[in-house]
Amino acid sequence: MPEAPKTSLKPCDYNLAEKNKKSLQFIEDVTSNADEVQKKVLEEILSRNAHVEYLQRHGLDGQTNRETFKKVMPVITYEDVQPEIDRIANGDTSQILCSKPISEFLTSSGTSGGERKLMPTIEEELGRRSLLYSLLMPVMTQFVPDLEKGKGMYFLFIKSEAKTPGGLVARPVLTSYYKSTHFKNRPYDPYTNYTSPNETILCPDSYQSMYSQMLCGLCQHKEVLRVGAVFASGFIRAIRFLEKHWKLLANDIRTGMIDPQITDPSVREAVMKILESDPKLADFIEAECSKESWQGIITRLWPNTKYVDVIVTGTMSQYIPTLDYYSNQLPLVCTMYASSECYFGVNLNPICKPSEVSYTLIPTMAYFEFLPVHRNNGAINSVSMPKSLNEKEQQKLVDLVDVKLDQEYELVVTTYAGLYRYRVGDVLRVAGFKNKAPQFSFICRKNVVLSIDSDKTDEVELQNAVKNAVNHLIPFDATVAEYTSYADTTTIPGHYVLFWELSLNGSTPIPPSVFEDCCLTIEESLNSVYRQGRTSDKSIGPLEIKIVEQGTFDKLMDYAISLGASINQYKTPRCVKFAPIVELLSSRVVTSYFSPKCPKWAPGHKQWGKN
Ligand code: AMP
Repeated sequence: MPEAPKTSLKPCDYNLAEKNKKSLQFIEDVTSNADEVQKKVLEEILSRNAHVEYLQRHGLDGQTNRETFKKVMPVITYEDVQPEIDRIANGDTSQILCSKPISEFLTSSGTSGGERKLMPTIEEELGRRSLLYSLLMPVMTQFVPDLEKGKGMYFLFIKSEAKTPGGLVARPVLTSYYKSTHFKNRPYDPYTNYTSPNETILCPDSYQSMYSQMLCGLCQHKEVLRVGAVFASGFIRAIRFLEKHWKLLANDIRTGMIDPQITDPSVREAVMKILESDPKLADFIEAECSKESWQGIITRLWPNTKYVDVIVTGTMSQYIPTLDYYSNQLPLVCTMYASSECYFGVNLNPICKPSEVSYTLIPTMAYFEFLPVHRNNGAINSVSMPKSLNEKEQQKLVDLVDVKLDQEYELVVTTYAGLYRYRVGDVLRVAGFKNKAPQFSFICRKNVVLSIDSDKTDEVELQNAVKNAVNHLIPFDATVAEYTSYADTTTIPGHYVLFWELSLNGSTPIPPSVFEDCCLTIEESLNSVYRQGRTSDKSIGPLEIKIVEQGTFDKLMDYAISLGASINQYKTPRCVKFAPIVELLSSRVVTSYFSPKCPKWAPGHKQWGKN
């Protein structure tokens, strides 16, 4: 992710080495004193907010020590705090969760009731986020030298925003950050020197934004030392865009004129400062892009690239083979771990293999607690709605410095912006320690079965969506006897696939349009982040239903039992990832159908109406 500088020095007095040293020293200090820092963070949060309604209601009574806090305050999920969040969204400005004014809501890619969760934030949190960003390059330069001698080509985008009924802006955390002065007016820093001018990042039209960023990246191809996007899926989408549009882009470089489809005046102006007629470069791009194989296209077009900066942990690991192919095995670098609730930590060994990535939580960001998780064979991903914890379970939470090596935990945060003992929903495993601070590998997000981009679909959502869709089969006296799903990332963009085994009692054949309606109904029933990905971001392709032969799911069970599953306990998995199982299902497909159009989606929560 792009980083924001902390200093406001001019180029002439910019002492990079000194700044890097300071950042690394900061990491040394806060990780060496992790427990003391955490104690202070909690005291600060609780003393500032001593009078807020939420803490008073639970009887914290101004106390700021850990013991009382842990005894008195419940460990919660989003649904527990939703009434307070709704009041703030509806315009109640009293001190409900936080003594400082809620400046906006950050819309999470995690959903509740099909809508994005709303995370309260306060102005000063931007400073905390900037601080985390400012640590990334000092860490990186320990492993890759001379990064200040060139540019970063990052594909960064804003998303649409909405207003709550009470008038607060609600938008994703990165949109909030890119639109902030922390990003827009960042002082000179060789590490935030990007090929994309701000205007191209801040363009709300996703086609124009991508086109202009790609064009600027191509024009400056020799200067590019690192490339990236936030998530792997976004970077692959950029390569796909290049595949589709290289002729137009090369033409612009040949003529020195930007394509008329780019109509945003500020984007045109910014690009025209970079774009010059360069027929040689245009020939080179055309020659490379028209080759049959696109293997290594990144290193061919941007020959000085040292690494690809994208998150490939969690569900994004499904994109590693594609990235390896396009980048000729350049290092894939995961620099940070963050969320709308708060930013968490950084990877102190960024050149490691994706499977070895671990994030060191920075103890100043929030107060962290950890709920031990015991899972057997990935069962954590099975249906289990967020449940409230009883008193005994609440006592099991441990502090940052008390986690144990190799143990898995669910992350619980108390933030400066008014979340107290909030379960983020991520499961992490302790992979090691930096001084006293643990380093975590990201295991998974609880309950998520399907994900292509930032969408997170759980089993209950999938089940409901299928239930709605099968209504289309009733007139044909048909039902779905069994189903499962998988995220197909061999297409760009990736898409959800459902395997259906039908039980047919009627004699009328089912026309293809009925199955297409089933696909669309499933999409319409999925959460808002999925529908936005399909409709606005175009980061998810049309959903596909594959009808499989009768008896396929019996074969699936036989296979699972041959691998050691118990026949009494066997349940059809609602999502499959294991390649031999996907192959077994795929080999028995009779027909397949795609959703014929995009599902409906509009920014903001549906209950807010138009604003
Ligand atoms: P959001 O609230 O939409 O910003 O999404 C935050 C979530 O994205 C986190 O809680 C994680 O589940 C996921 N996430 C963020 N950073 C990483 C990372 N480096 N590796 C894996 N998952 C991540």
